[in-house]
Amino acid sequence: MEHNRFIQLIHFLFFIWFLFVFIFALDFLGFIRFLEATTPSISFFFIAINLLFMGICTTLYFFHHHIHSSTQKEKQVICWQYDQTSALSYLINKTGKAMTTVLNRDKLMRLILESFIKIFHCPTGILFIYNENENIFEFEAGYGINRTALRNQVIKSNHPIVSDVVNNYKIISQRSIKSIQEKDLHFVKEDRLQKSAKGVDTLIIITLRIGDKIFGLVFLYITKTSALIISEYETLVYVAINQATIAIGSAIQSQFAIQDRLTMIYNHDYFVQRLKEELFRCKRYHLKLCLIMLDIDHFKSFNDTYGHLAGNYILREVAKIFTTNTRITDIISRYGGEEFAILMTETGINDAVKIAEKIREAIQDFPFEYDGEQLHVTVSIGLSEWDGADEESFDDIDFIDSADKKLYEAKKNGRNRVCL
Ligand code: GH3
Ligand code: MG
Ligand code: MG
Repeated sequence: MEHNRFIQLIHFLFFIWFLFVFIFALDFLGFIRFLEATTPSISFFFIAINLLFMGICTTLYFFHHHIHSSTQKEKQVICWQYDQTSALSYLINKTGKAMTTVLNRDKLMRLILESFIKIFHCPTGILFIYNENENIFEFEAGYGINRTALRNQVIKSNHPIVSDVVNNYKIISQRSIKSIQEKDLHFVKEDRLQKSAKGVDTLIIITLRIGDKIFGLVFLYITKTSALIISEYETLVYVAINQATIAIGSAIQSQFAIQDRLTMIYNHDYFVQRLKEELFRCKRYHLKLCLIMLDIDHFKSFNDTYGHLAGNYILREVAKIFTTNTRITDIISRYGGEEFAILMTETGINDAVKIAEKIREAIQDFPFEYDGEQLHVTVSIGLSEWDGADEESFDDIDFIDSADKKLYEAKKNGRNRVCL
């Protein structure tokens, strides 16, 4: 029977019972003479009917109450499940939108990690991104954990943990956390975990991959309860992971269209494109523009002596020195191999020489540390300038050519110098 009809029936029966009680009460108080006027058998019949209605009403009431409360419970469970599902879907949808609209790499990585933190209800998470040149996973973003301690944390790509994580995500119990620790993964050490979050005893490793190629690892430290929720909402968890994978993958790809993977400064193609644009702008508005072409001295013998990896380290560090010694508006690039180009917008030759000298000295004096050894390198610099007086036909090729000639001169004259 329909729930509402059932309630109506109970109400109706209660009404009739109360009617009997009312009549008996009036009779008892002497307002009417109903029972007296009837024969004892009719009185007895009325009393029996009254008791019967009372019995039926009470039974039905308790029966209804029992059914109703159990359906309420069922509803609550369904509502709770619905809440979880809709909250997850909402979160996935919201973060998905943000992931596809945020183009800044750092911001995107932080956002993705924070989304995972929210989705998985976990207090701590770390994101590692694969560095193809070094064949390692490097620390990219951290949440709820000491970031400074983790900044230089890397996982070698031949580490068992990487080859071990074959599924899209993998839940590792406390026992496995201990075994990882034995394998010398510092950041999973329990004492650090316990400091960052109480009750965290399970580690989830999510692999971000395109096809078979893993390009990122997400470590999430969660409680057992969260692990249960995750296994219950597996499909949604996969949706979240796929979304993050697409967002990170496309961000990295679009970033490397303009950025050099080793030094993280602009690449050759992007530099040439910017040089053309800047030269056009300077001609149009009669602005000054200077170009530095810089080459590391005797780099071949440096590689031969200290190894290719030490050479790569120097290239990365030198790029950092450029960044700290130039303005934010300057365009710094790895022109090719161990040759760099720096375009200084709205800068005259006098200022450009000062900057070039500053860079040369900074590199000459910098104590590069590699494998416990202190290393030194020097650079030669060629400078060229567009001052507005040059002929209109002067283009990007002429500009680079003239700086290159000066660089050659610097090499010929003994290296570790600036020529203009
Ligand atoms: P110079 O003072 O005349 O410039 O001498 P050099 O040895 O630096 O010049 P050369 O052009 O003969 O050699 C350039 C070297 O730069 C050769 C190459 O091994 C090294 N190199 C180019 N790209 C990379 C790189 O990505 N990593 C490393 N480690 N070395 C590189
Ligand atoms: Mg060189
Ligand atoms: Mg060279």
